Amino acid sequence: MNADLERLIELEKVDREAARLVEEVAGLPKRVAAIEAKLAEHKAAVEKAKAQIKSNESSRRQLEADIRGFQEKIVKYKSQSSSVKTNDEYRALMHEVEFAEKQISGCEDKILELMLALESEEKALKVAEAELKTETADVEKEKAEARVRTAEDEKLLAALKEKRTQLRSGVNDTALAHYDRVMRQRKSAIAEAREQKCMACFVIQRPQTWQEIRSNEHIVTCNSCGRILYFDPANEVVPEPAKKKSKARVEVEAESEPETTPETTPTQ
Ligand SMILES: [Zn+2]
Repeated sequence: MNADLERLIELEKVDREAARLVEEVAGLPKRVAAIEAKLAEHKAAVEKAKAQIKSNESSRRQLEADIRGFQEKIVKYKSQSSSVKTNDEYRALMHEVEFAEKQISGCEDKILELMLALESEEKALKVAEAELKTETADVEKEKAEARVRTAEDEKLLAALKEKRTQLRSGVNDTALAHYDRVMRQRKSAIAEAREQKCMACFVIQRPQTWQEIRSNEHIVTCNSCGRILYFDPANEVVPEPAKKKSKARVEVEAESEPETTPETTPTQ
């Protein structure tokens, strides 16, 4: 095989692997940021559950204070009742006592409701805390993995860079310039040619070009996409019977190989 062609094939592998590693390194912080955002959601859930319990407790304290207030009033009314002069005054005081007792009963009902709600609120907090704990451990693990992967990738990249410089120094300037131009435009600069076709853009190459590609002794570029073509004998396809030839192939042969079939005379 042509030495430049061989190096360019190798160079493209190096360039592609380097591009993949660069992309991976760039993607890792994004992945960590995504899982950290998820962690923030779990933290918020824990805070919300805690706030709910706190509000439950303060509501209960307020109700208990209200109950004490009503109880004090009842004591006061009862002590006043012993010194009232008229039945009306006495009835009015007893009415106040009854009202305060109703209020107390209402407060006690609300406290009971809050106690029941507290049970489920505490359960929700436990669940949220457990999820946060698991998620935190996952995030730490993922972060550690990302750090290790980044370090490995960077080491690989440094090695590839060295290999790249070495390969490039061995290729002639014209071929290298062509390679760089196609690489910039198409993200790949080398393509296998199989069955006379460029396997990147699938355009059929002219028979003369195909012979040159098959030899692997020249830098041959695809007449459509410009990629540098090579031939792998391992992938050579055994020709099929003529009737199965594709239309495109027949056309190319008809257009470029009339001299190969001089014995065929058109019948009219
Ligand atoms: Zn092509």
